[in-house]
Amino acid sequence: MWQTNATVLRAGAEAVLIDSPYFPDELEALPGVLAGAGFEPDALVATHADYDHVLGRVAFPELALGMGEPSVVRLHQEPGAAQRALRDMDAELYVERERPLALGHVQTLPVPGSVELGPEELELHPADGHTSDGMAVMARWCGLLCVGDYLSNVEIPMVESGIGDYRATLARLSPLVEASETIVPGHGSPQTRDGALRILDEDVDYLDALERGDERPKLPAGRDSVEQRKIHAENLRRFA
Ligand SMILES: [Zn+2]
Repeated sequence: MWQTNATVLRAGAEAVLIDSPYFPDELEALPGVLAGAGFEPDALVATHADYDHVLGRVAFPELALGMGEPSVVRLHQEPGAAQRALRDMDAELYVERERPLALGHVQTLPVPGSVELGPEELELHPADGHTSDGMAVMARWCGLLCVGDYLSNVEIPMVESGIGDYRATLARLSPLVEASETIVPGHGSPQTRDGALRILDEDVDYLDALERGDERPKLPAGRDSVEQRKIHAENLRRFA
């Protein structure tokens, strides 16, 4: 029932792992799978500080985790929050781990800004609204955009920090999507440009309904489920 996407990107001799899978068996298999494919990461990056995106060091304990400055601020403001949320979700899903999550030394990345990957450059764009932190990572040279928890085909907008911030992020993502070939959301399937643009339109419509306080808005096809209605109820509780 639960799934998080991780993306590995290589340029020249350097590779980076963006976000992380969630389940212990996935994390255990990851180093071998990536080494076999010639994509052994030299760096870890998380799009935001939610517990399900920061597990890269479980697979690669020798690497530091890079996060945008707003995420580092959030970690300092909410010490232990990711660890507690992970424990809660693990308990719900009956997941056992060998040891508690340790984030280790976190490297601060500039957002907006960029970081080098081999001969290329990763663009880091602000993406708040789902949470108070968040960044989208754009690899323009190969047409890849990793957006974190936005533009998901399986999840409606989970608005935790602000409807206005969420709208601003969708507006910021729109030209990035236009310039991409593949868009990877935090949860769900990678999307083509047209697929991601359709989801973006649906999400703007959803935010309109949320702002109106609609109790039972029409949810997009594929995202109209009991679970998504629960997310809507939470969004209403926070903002309507
Ligand atoms: Zn997530």
